[in-house]
Amino acid sequence: MSILRSRVVVITGASSGIGAACAIAFVETGAKVVLAARRAERLESLVARLESMGGEALAVTTDVTDEDAVAALFARTVERFGGVDVLVNNAGIADSTPAENASLALWHRVIDTNLTSAFLCARAAIPLMRARGHGRIINVGSISARVPRKESPAYTASKWGLDGLTRALAIDCRADNIAVSIFHPGIVATELGGGISSLPDDLVARPEDAAGVIVHMADLPDHLNFYEALVVQNKIP
Ligand code: NDP
Repeated sequence: MSILRSRVVVITGASSGIGAACAIAFVETGAKVVLAARRAERLESLVARLESMGGEALAVTTDVTDEDAVAALFARTVERFGGVDVLVNNAGIADSTPAENASLALWHRVIDTNLTSAFLCARAAIPLMRARGHGRIINVGSISARVPRKESPAYTASKWGLDGLTRALAIDCRADNIAVSIFHPGIVATELGGGISSLPDDLVARPEDAAGVIVHMADLPDHLNFYEALVVQNKIP
């Protein structure tokens, strides 16, 4: 039986792509899921689908760059499920703007969405996990945190920053039995992935592939941390 059975998993960016696939994959293990993103209708229809699978799911419309909204997300999670065991910091946006054309507002939007959101969610989740005696935070990075894409300084910086945040939190949270890790996908066929790649479908991963890796990283005994995964498609164009 999966260790995730009955555990509470908060997934940001759950309205599409990797996050939505994660919600399905976690429910298949018996976990309860909390879905956070801005598009309320998408979240509600996913909740209906998860419930039709026999799962328990809560949708909380959340802009993860908003400090108060993140606080409300975790308050609603505690109210409904009593705590949180796993946090998947998956929300993100892509950007392909060379530095000289990028406004400061664009820079802030990318950094806030891809990096500051993970800080805000981790900050809210850590005391709740400490109270449970265990916890797991999985950040969704990118191959761009290893091999920078051309003309994407904000995105690349956000993902390198997320890598740094992961390392820092992993050290700080160990003593509380909270494992912090990072998953770097290659190109995945999602709304975001489609926007950054013109590769044919059979040369990119599916959202379910990425979700499978995230569940695999979460489905471990509490004393183990699958610290880092970098998963790319094996086929070469
Ligand atoms: P999608 O565009 O399908 O999903 C992105 C998710 O993030 C959506 O659910 C979106 O929901 C949510 N999101 C964006 N901004 C916010 C916000 N301010 N507040 C709350 N939620 C937000 O793309 P992917 O599934 O591909 O992306 C998931 C993660 O995977 C991202 O972190 C991305 O960087 C990473 N990644 C993806 C790759 C790929 O090739 N697809 C490659 C490497 C990494 P909503 O708009 O409803 O708020």
